[in-house]
Amino acid sequence: MHSALILDQIALLILALTLFSILFKRMTRSLEDKAFLLNIGVAFFMTFCDFLMEFYSRNLNGLRIRVFAAYFFSYLYFIIRNFYNVAYLLFLMAMAGVHSDLRRRTVRLLVWGPYGLAVLMIFANLFTPYLFSISLEEGYRRGPGMLYLYALGFIYMLIGFYYLSRCVHYLDRSKWMALLAMYVITMLVAFIQYMREGLLIEMIAFSMVMLLDHLLIQRPEEILDFSVGLYSWNAYRNRLIVAAKSRTPVRVVIIRYLNASQARSVFGEKRYNQFVRMRGQELENMMYRAYGGHNIYYGAMGCICIVFDDAQTDANDLLRRIQRSFESESDNHSSVASVLQTRYTTIRFLQDIQEVESMINFTVNFPGYMSPTDHILDGITIQENTTLQIKNYSARIISRALRENYFEMYYQPIYNLQSGLFESAEALIRLKDPEFGFVSPAIFIPEAELHGYMAPIGDFVLNSVYEFLSQNSTDSLKLRYMEVNLSVEQCIQNNLVETILGLEKKYAVPSGKVNLEVTETMNALNPEAMIRNLQALHARNYRFSLDDYGTGYSNILRVMHLPLSLVKIDKELVDMLGDAKCASVVANTITMMHQIGMKIVCEGVETAEQVEILREMGCDYIQGYYYAKPMPREQFLSFLKAHNLDGVPAGGQA
Ligand code: C2E
Ligand code: CA
Ligand code: CA
Repeated sequence: MHSALILDQIALLILALTLFSILFKRMTRSLEDKAFLLNIGVAFFMTFCDFLMEFYSRNLNGLRIRVFAAYFFSYLYFIIRNFYNVAYLLFLMAMAGVHSDLRRRTVRLLVWGPYGLAVLMIFANLFTPYLFSISLEEGYRRGPGMLYLYALGFIYMLIGFYYLSRCVHYLDRSKWMALLAMYVITMLVAFIQYMREGLLIEMIAFSMVMLLDHLLIQRPEEILDFSVGLYSWNAYRNRLIVAAKSRTPVRVVIIRYLNASQARSVFGEKRYNQFVRMRGQELENMMYRAYGGHNIYYGAMGCICIVFDDAQTDANDLLRRIQRSFESESDNHSSVASVLQTRYTTIRFLQDIQEVESMINFTVNFPGYMSPTDHILDGITIQENTTLQIKNYSARIISRALRENYFEMYYQPIYNLQSGLFESAEALIRLKDPEFGFVSPAIFIPEAELHGYMAPIGDFVLNSVYEFLSQNSTDSLKLRYMEVNLSVEQCIQNNLVETILGLEKKYAVPSGKVNLEVTETMNALNPEAMIRNLQALHARNYRFSLDDYGTGYSNILRVMHLPLSLVKIDKELVDMLGDAKCASVVANTITMMHQIGMKIVCEGVETAEQVEILREMGCDYIQGYYYAKPMPREQFLSFLKAHNLDGVPAGGQA
């Protein structure tokens, strides 16, 4: 046998192994997987035909039947070889997330047109052998028409390059390179083969590219969650990234198990995973035929997400079918099902929610936006809810605010009941977004913490406050100090002390002028880091207030060892002063705090009655709309001047 044929045989072996690996790992469900499978299959048959065509045409041995066989496999080869161009382009488009382009007529024509032409040319060769001819006398001969086939292949390469250029920004580098490799190698090989006829390197080159693509692009450990046999959370994020970057909206159906971790610890990892695996299969059966291209993803926090390639897929009906089917089984199925609390929703990514991180956030947290009695959250209500909208866009809103300086500090005066002066104030951050208007810190601060924007915001707050204190002769306005909120992150930051001492020096603001507010929850998170920070600052004469006392499960014991000098009683408690029991709790809290040497600020005071009750109880400071709302810097300065210097009477604002 001709030694050149060995290469084809090796190529067949490589392709067969790759195919085996794909099937063994069951990477056959997503669109990308299917497109890749198609490529491997086509490459395999192409190589097979190439092998037989070469074998017969090189070993005609004067036999007519061999000429016929050589012709037969040549035609088959050319038809498959040209189809391979299409198959690879489809795979590339699936990888780039632009396969929905195929719905456009022109794109379909571009993808299938050249192939149609190629097939016509191949058929025409039956009558006029201008592509190739095989005869007993002259063997296999290449004709001048072959260049046209090359030209058609070149068109596919150009379309491929176009899509590669579109996904260069978002596709992983190595994946992108692996996809490009096909075209580079095709060109190289075509050139070599053209120069040296008889060399059979094309198939081996293709098979290597396929193997490379399989290893670099189709990495199962990245894509699959083997424990439940569904696509992984990582793959979900990537799917969203691809949708966002290629600007192709998708429909997402989300099934969320609220108590997944409890179920896991009660029934054990194995049994829980088996349950999820079974659910995945049920879903797959439910969608078989009736729905278009889709993938099912799973996140270990208890999220099953079905992503439909077509955003128009009608999911409301599906959602109800899923719920009915899951909940009807729950009594007789397995005990995992009867314990799990399930919530369902559907949303169009890029239409209802624009950003990947917001979408991930929504996927996990959407039950938080529902009333506890509902099981299904309709996409419609989501769009109407502006708070939720802001949450969805929070990453963008916050990063834009940082970039464009949409943040501003407001100051809320705090009244000393004894001296009748506004001796301090709380610095409160404000965000005015050009699109969404005023965004409450109660919304964006938690979001900023979630998305890792708290450090720059914290820096902005501290900087602004120090700058304010250095610019204005606060002493002459009788402002003794400023209350500044520390975020959870700031509290445990390694460089908090450094930052504050740096500002103190830079702005020449003495430490006594800044009072830092912390909450109990911060202490629960990383007590050592927080204690270290506070002790170090305390040693430099900084004082601390305990914020939000009386909310949640307050436990003063948890914070007793912190160097606190002030306690801020939360609006929640103040609002309940009308109730005798609550009033006595507040009264006792004040007495107790006084006994351990702390001063008391009551927050959210809105009426004269509240002020009187609190004065009776011995409260030291009042902060609330009754005296003043938070206000911008200039207004705050005029406020201090009017009340602290000019003797304008205080109160009655709310
Ligand atoms: P907080 O620290 O408990 O701030 C007090 C909140 O109560 C402020 O809301 C203030 O405007 C509001 N308030 C004061 N008096 C009254 C009243 O009489 N009636 C009512 N209804 N509300 C009153 P704001 O400014 O919306 O801030 C909300 C939360 O956002 C703050 O709660 C704080 O946790 C956080 N925050 C605000 N500014 C900053 C900041 O600069 N840094 C950090 N880390 N967090 C901040
Ligand atoms: Ca505060
Ligand atoms: Ca507070």
